[in-house]
Amino acid sequence: MTGAADTLARDPAAPAESHLFYQAHGTRPFIDRAEGIWMYGQDGKSYMDAASGAMVCNIGHSNPRVIAAMKEQLDRCTFAYRLQFQSEASEGLAAEIARLMPAGLDKVFFVSGGSEAVETCLKFARQWAIAVGQGSRYKVISRFPSYHGCTLGALAVTGYTPLSAPFDPMMRAMPKITTPRQYLDGRGEDPDAYGRRMADLLEEEILRQGPETVLAFIMEPVGGASTGAVVAPDTYYPRIREICDKYGVLLIYDEVMTGVGRTGRFLAAEHWGITPDLVAMSKGFAAGYAPLGAMIAPGRMVRQVLDAGGFAHGHTYAGNPIACAAGRAVVREIVEQDLSTNAACMGERQMAGLQALMAEFPFVGDVRGKGLLQAMELVADKETLAVLPKELNAASRLVDLAYERGLIIYFRRTRGGAEGDHVMITPPLTITPAEVDEMLDRLRGALRALHKEIAG
Ligand code: PLP
Repeated sequence: MTGAADTLARDPAAPAESHLFYQAHGTRPFIDRAEGIWMYGQDGKSYMDAASGAMVCNIGHSNPRVIAAMKEQLDRCTFAYRLQFQSEASEGLAAEIARLMPAGLDKVFFVSGGSEAVETCLKFARQWAIAVGQGSRYKVISRFPSYHGCTLGALAVTGYTPLSAPFDPMMRAMPKITTPRQYLDGRGEDPDAYGRRMADLLEEEILRQGPETVLAFIMEPVGGASTGAVVAPDTYYPRIREICDKYGVLLIYDEVMTGVGRTGRFLAAEHWGITPDLVAMSKGFAAGYAPLGAMIAPGRMVRQVLDAGGFAHGHTYAGNPIACAAGRAVVREIVEQDLSTNAACMGERQMAGLQALMAEFPFVGDVRGKGLLQAMELVADKETLAVLPKELNAASRLVDLAYERGLIIYFRRTRGGAEGDHVMITPPLTITPAEVDEMLDRLRGALRALHKEIAG
């Protein structure tokens, strides 16, 4: 995902020519060290990490207990191939996750990231359908806008045009329904009715496609960067579950960003008492200490796939002992320090602050989210929510202005990718009340500077 970091000033410590490249031209300042919510550049500046990197560092940086657990594993064994050895770290983490999941979701398949977790869900769903004699089912309905990853399978269910368009000829196009965004397309409508109406789009799409061809429906329970932390009305979630059950369609929750406490519960699904059929997790799972992701599935489905000849899928690094040791220590930290509850409480404090900023600035059109997954939308007109001119690059500018004030936030163009501006405000779940207040002060400073630029 192209970020505003591409426009950051060149770091004096950087070599004359970098041999690295990412999405776009540009270099970033060199990181020196990080601790808690703070990151320190080699440029001597300190930065408050209100993005958790990319909604990853849920327990903050340099947690001594996680580092100790990783060091212990480093001293014992750094790699054990899953077809040759099991490790205490991977077995222990799988058991812990099974304990924290809704009843029945008790089998864990490890991978190294979010896209891999989503791919695994899609391929597992398909192999399960074949195993139970439903091989006609292969279509995975998803939503627009949405983001499920950058590998071709995950991209086929992603609703974000700038990322997917070049690859359309290489992928099998998957059907999409509209993501509920009441602030945009349901204003004035009763939220319960809006939620049901938007969920019913799934039933219409299943019938249009032919239920016997539809394998699964995948959704982010709370939107990530593609929508800017959009939450659907409460009626949406149970209705979607009901429709999936009615047509034998698997419900996949992509909790890559929302999982592991970020929205105020261990899984976002818990807010609505939903048990999905499959769950994808990553990001906050090992919280940036190591690359880690997972698919979580019911034992019943896993047995059916394995009995039918095995799951034809897997990555070399799956279940890496160091990544699993990190994940185990991170999950322990989330549970023992009750960081989900802190995310819920600090989320409320942060939301109150964002609402005050919305009242203060004419171009802040909406603030929304759940727990510490929150976003602020920048608009030309608060009434119509018309987008700001693209040339202003408002969200990207806000990220730069915040950065100049020692605050890291995250932006992405919204409304499907082509237009609109929002920033994500997603600090570590360890944030304290004083840090929330300081973060909001810095954000206010950046918004004032943006206001001056917009006013010209
Ligand atoms: N799914 C969701 C909801 C995400 O937010 C992301 C990443 O932003 C992914 C999947 C892909 O994860 P990764 O970048 O680790 O491959």
